[in-house]
Amino acid sequence: MNGFDLTINNLLETAVMNNGDQKIVYMDRSLTYKEFYKNAMNLSKNLIKIGVNRKDVIAVIDYDSLMYMYGYYSIPMIGAVMHTVNIRYPPEIIFYTMQRADDSYIMIDEVFMDLIVKNAAYLNFIKGIIVNSKDHKHFDINIPVYYFDDLLKDSDLEFKEPDENDTATLFFTSGTTGLPKGVSFTHRQLVLHSIASIGALSNEPIKYNINDVVMPLVPMFHVHAWGIPYTSIMNGIKYVLPGKYDIPRILETMNKEKVSMSAMVPTILYMLISDKNAKQLLQDLNLKVIIGGAALSRGLAERARAYGIDVVSGYGMSETAPILTLAVYNRKVINKSDEEKFEFRLKTGIPIPMVSLRVVNNNKDVENNGKEIGEIIVRAPWLTNGYIKDKEKSEELWKDGWLHTGDLAVIDEYGYIKIVDREKDAIKSGGEFIPSLILEDLISTIQGVNEVAVVAKADDKWGERPVAFINGNASLDEIKIKMSEFVDTGRIAKFWVPDDFIFVNEMPKTSTGKIDKKVLRDKLR
Ligand code: ADP
Repeated sequence: MNGFDLTINNLLETAVMNNGDQKIVYMDRSLTYKEFYKNAMNLSKNLIKIGVNRKDVIAVIDYDSLMYMYGYYSIPMIGAVMHTVNIRYPPEIIFYTMQRADDSYIMIDEVFMDLIVKNAAYLNFIKGIIVNSKDHKHFDINIPVYYFDDLLKDSDLEFKEPDENDTATLFFTSGTTGLPKGVSFTHRQLVLHSIASIGALSNEPIKYNINDVVMPLVPMFHVHAWGIPYTSIMNGIKYVLPGKYDIPRILETMNKEKVSMSAMVPTILYMLISDKNAKQLLQDLNLKVIIGGAALSRGLAERARAYGIDVVSGYGMSETAPILTLAVYNRKVINKSDEEKFEFRLKTGIPIPMVSLRVVNNNKDVENNGKEIGEIIVRAPWLTNGYIKDKEKSEELWKDGWLHTGDLAVIDEYGYIKIVDREKDAIKSGGEFIPSLILEDLISTIQGVNEVAVVAKADDKWGERPVAFINGNASLDEIKIKMSEFVDTGRIAKFWVPDDFIFVNEMPKTSTGKIDKKVLRDKLR
């Protein structure tokens, strides 16, 4: 050991040395990296002062705020663990995850305090609450309360830095099936994830660099907002925090701050470009957007392009910190025409540095022919070791030394993967597999289709048949004509054509904003 660990402390320190005058913006506040660092260090020290010990878990409950950004640094920097709480869970699930994570402190904005005060009886394991309340509001609760701004005051306490293998963060999966499962990550894992992400992001068509202004729209409670709070600071980039996801205000801020880079699930992109002022506010930004968490459909990508937005797919999951692949150009693709390159951006991408990714069917790697389907299995230095307090599911996840994603994909001759379905969403009709994401991709291009989800419906004869849910004002006749065209031109097999097209005004969404196929399947029962 040479005494220099891969820690978040060191990540931040070098970033501040290199770009101390760069800005972090939140609402009407703007501060330099240098000021942020000073405050973050004070917060770290004052957390120790109020009794936080190494390995203590601090639950953060807030929208994507400046306090959250401090949490990303100050908590792990003293060897404590940041638990990013999913604020969209129902209260009983929030408390379940807090108990399961062994939280001992809460860092929270006053707007969420009602939840805590009302349910204090379930929180007898909490030793202290740090509240962001400008007016130092009084809360009627039997747990010690500290005010966030008091903890930013100068302190000269010295503290021992964490080891790179100390746990830095934890959070829970969105729990689409059953109770959410907890995952955790060490300093070393987060630093390596950041370095590898920057390596990939520096390629075309993203070319993420110091001239960018980033405003991620991936909730900070979910998978480290895809690591952007670390990668961007590491790279010296101007960072704009979105606060609560209020679309009109976000569009105004993007315009005002000249945001050039963002990341989001497809639903948020759809909401952004559906706003009446979107075109006017976005068109001059040259905005690059990484779309992940669910497949980027061709229809959505084309619509975004008409708004001057350059979309690029990314892929990952809670268990993987999250980034595994990005649809940046490799050497086989970079010299192709713009139209051809657009096609590659719609794929799921190529592994980022240090990710070993295989697509396997019956224990054998599939051919690079874009046809044969297999499961994605991965290894990388930043994948979770397993689920918190769940040995059985951890062993299942890590069967044979590879992390099993449960995602089904093909891989093409250029090395790009394309996810065609999730194992748990797969539709089996007459013993044959119908890839729902390929169908959705095609249906998304039909005029008037805003959102589409294809799910399985039980069928006496075939076992399962596909049914498409559509949000939009497309005509059923037009959809049927297009489906025949897709069959006639060989893009899909005839038996893939959904039996039904059901129009809905709104798609059900999971707590992380993805279309909730489980709810749609339940509707069909
Ligand atoms: P949840 O399982 O609740 O959706 P995660 O946020 O961990 O929680 O989601 C990870 C999953 O999201 C992946 O396993 C994959 O199925 C899906 N996913 C993520 N990115 C993409 C993508 N680019 N294309 C298709 N599916 C994706």
